[in-house]
Amino acid sequence: MSLDGTYDAGNIFAKILRGEMPAVRVYEDEHVLAFMDVFPQAKGHTLVIPKHSTARNFLEEAPEIVGPLMLGVQRVAKAVRAALKPDGLVITQFNGAPAGQTVYHLHFHIIPRWEGVPLGRHAEGMADMQELKGLAEQISAMIS
Ligand code: 5GP
Repeated sequence: MSLDGTYDAGNIFAKILRGEMPAVRVYEDEHVLAFMDVFPQAKGHTLVIPKHSTARNFLEEAPEIVGPLMLGVQRVAKAVRAALKPDGLVITQFNGAPAGQTVYHLHFHIIPRWEGVPLGRHAEGMADMQELKGLAEQISAMIS
């Protein structure tokens, strides 16, 4: 899918927002929802999405949503750091299929990195749900 197109309300993250699909939730406020990526590229890979949005990508997002969204991304990233003590954190976001985007509801990836641990492949290899729940609890406990 290119950068241009129509928002599909049947996308997986829209379903998660509506409670039609399960997700291992980490944090929620009036603006954002954070949940664990089920195909994590590293332990603690977390996604942050805007709740009231039909933007498929960052370029389409309304300016008044960008601010609260980025604050949510920073809040969750700090909690991931506090909980999991990584050596580094990748915070990233893909726009359009050629850039690597596979789900077309705007989202940010928070991916902890440890020295000497290679990054897993994007959107491959399903996580153990119990492990994800444990990680979500650890991260959630560090939200401030
Ligand atoms: P994108 O490739 O669009 O930047 O990222 C989409 C992300 O969503 C990928 O990292 C992929 O692993 C994740 N993902 C795909 N389907 C699901 C799902 O059903 N639940 C959750 N929690 N993550 C998903």
